[in-house]
Amino acid sequence: MQFTIALPETIDLAIIGAGPHALTLTTHLLQKRQSIRGKFSIFDPSGRWMSRWKQQFAALEIPHLRSPAVHHPDPNPFALRKFAESRPNELFPPYDLPGTQLFEDFCQDVIRVWQLQEQVIPLAVKSIEPLPHHLRPRFRLCLQDGQEVIARRVVLATSSAQIQIPDWVNQIQTAYPQDRLSHSQTIDLRKLQLMGKKVLIVGGRLDEWTFGIRCYFSRCDDSADDAAAVSRKVI
Ligand SMILES: Cc1cc2nc3c(=O)[nH]c(=O)nc-3n(C[C@H](O)[C@H](O)[C@H](O)COP(=O)(O)OP(=O)(O)OC[C@H]3O[C@@H](n4cnc5c(N)ncnc54)[C@H](O)[C@@H]3O)c2cc1C
Repeated sequence: MQFTIALPETIDLAIIGAGPHALTLTTHLLQKRQSIRGKFSIFDPSGRWMSRWKQQFAALEIPHLRSPAVHHPDPNPFALRKFAESRPNELFPPYDLPGTQLFEDFCQDVIRVWQLQEQVIPLAVKSIEPLPHHLRPRFRLCLQDGQEVIARRVVLATSSAQIQIPDWVNQIQTAYPQDRLSHSQTIDLRKLQLMGKKVLIVGGRLDEWTFGIRCYFSRCDDSADDAAAVSRKVI
């Protein structure tokens, strides 16, 4: 039996996506204007905050962030340092980079402190239609379960991370094992056995670089020299 999620017909602000950007926006809005509580809705098919972030960090087995401890969703830049006072071993050099678990626990704490636990509506937004009006323009949001919501403002916090597959991939005529040619966003290192295997990484952006480092470390001792060796191999 399918349940329909009860939604308001109209909302002031619709936030699409429940990743770190949406969480940061929400806490900053609440800090500036408490009265906005109850006037916004957050949509994400996962129904949870930070689901994609968690999945990405787990899939690539990333031990700590690359951004320092002041970059986080709480409006107080020192909130993460305060939270980490009892866990100093989880801030990594050179700039106190928060450990993955520390950061996730901190974000859960932010969600709790700002009372945002039950705020994510577990539905994807399928389309947005502007509703022109000379005084009160609005947007109609069509949701994955067929419901519609009218919003005064909409924030797209769905991230720009679109998977880009080069044309030449689709032009490959010869049959090949599909799991041997993967996009970095679909790779889950926890399920792969790469020990001793040769991997060709196409692209030198962050995902690919992180993937390369993690592959390399899966068969090396963890050291700064190893990281330097991998970065030198970017052609
Ligand atoms: C390997 C790697 C390491 C990284 N390290 C760091 C780091 O150390 N520090 C840092 O700051 N950043 C880091 N990043 C970048 C970080 O992951 C992204 O910048 C961040 O996740 C973007 O946040 P976001 O909220 O915009 O999007 P996301 O986290 O991608 O969240 C977007 C959400 O939108 C939802 N969504 C999508 N479409 C719809 C729809 N139609 N309707 C409703 N919901 C929808 C998705 O389900 C998702 O939950 C790293 C990225 C990678 C790949």
